[in-house]
Amino acid sequence: MYTMGEISFENLSFVQKKDYTEVILYKMFSFLVPNFELSSLGEYSVKPNSLVFSTDCEKKLMLVLAKYIKDLKNKVTGNSTTYIHASSGIPLVGNISFGIVDRGSSLLEIKPITSCNLNCIYCSLSEGRKSRWHDFVVEVEYLIEEIKKVVEFKGIKDQEIHIGCQGEPLFYSELIKLVKGVSVIKNVSVISMDTNAAMLTKEITKELFDSGMNRFNISLNGVSQEMTDKMAGAKYPLKHVLKLCKYITKLGAELVIAPVWVPGINDKEIPDLIKLGKKLNAKMGIQNYLEYKHGKKPAKQATWDEFYAKLRDLEEKYNIKLKLDQTDFNIRSAPSLPKPFVDEEVVKARILCPGRYRNEAIVAAKNRNITVFTNKKSGVVKFKIIRTKHNIFLGK
Ligand code: SF4
Repeated sequence: MYTMGEISFENLSFVQKKDYTEVILYKMFSFLVPNFELSSLGEYSVKPNSLVFSTDCEKKLMLVLAKYIKDLKNKVTGNSTTYIHASSGIPLVGNISFGIVDRGSSLLEIKPITSCNLNCIYCSLSEGRKSRWHDFVVEVEYLIEEIKKVVEFKGIKDQEIHIGCQGEPLFYSELIKLVKGVSVIKNVSVISMDTNAAMLTKEITKELFDSGMNRFNISLNGVSQEMTDKMAGAKYPLKHVLKLCKYITKLGAELVIAPVWVPGINDKEIPDLIKLGKKLNAKMGIQNYLEYKHGKKPAKQATWDEFYAKLRDLEEKYNIKLKLDQTDFNIRSAPSLPKPFVDEEVVKARILCPGRYRNEAIVAAKNRNITVFTNKKSGVVKFKIIRTKHNIFLGK
């Protein structure tokens, strides 16, 4: 006699295909499991959030899923992706692309996902729908647990949790759960995020606000449809975002309008953005476009002197503070996590997954993850630590 066993998953959904079952993680990542692997466990049927088996095979099913999740892909870009979860063996401190970055201040940078819905012409990461980098997505429960440990270690009042991804945080289906989870951590008083806002809706804004998000940094790069489309490298829902900006301030959350000023491209619209910011009572966080190794290069970057001179002129003209620093956001220095490695230290560790860019691999040691420059895809690598700043580790 068979016992029917329904195995349900909160974060996975399933779609039956001819020869495969598509397993969808966090709505935008998926992998395929050949149907013969599932039928080898017993008769089965597929439901949206569960698999129903004629046998008691939960443990075996987990092994099958663990085998094929290695082929996880981003459904939007097709990029290979690593799911970083509590049992993955990958610590969340050590990397600039995912997890937790502690730069020794009262602000912790949180990176649950890589990947973006736009294709900004100035993107410092060359992110977007045409990105060809390896992606990461972090299990929300694991992320909250590890944030809690770091906040406890830092032990300061008014801790800010800043969700600033290499991409767009609204692509993370668990964003609200993440905000709710960190909002109840003792000493967390500010939760903020950087967003292009194209995927934001009134309902999501309200839910984020009610969950504890109290600052929205919106990268609005112009005031005309033509310019915002040009800067986004895609159709940008300008009218919609303008309405949301008003709504954010109406809710009582802080709004920061954070355009990137790309010389020769959006210069003419910066004054209008300042006027908009004043009208909405928003802070203006104008950013200097900078050229980065992996970034797009639509213009020559202005020197910091040139940039600050331009800001000074605009400050005088519009009677507004534009040269912001940490004090404008109440960011103070705070205890940093200890660094378990020193420069030049030789380390040996096993490769756990690919790094963000070609010829990079992620390894783990001493509760940190390290990005190693190597052609190897698996096995053990021996390398020298070449960066330790801010607990972001590189090895070569
Ligand atoms: S929104 Fe940000 S991450 Fe996305 S493409 Fe634009 S600059 Fe890059």
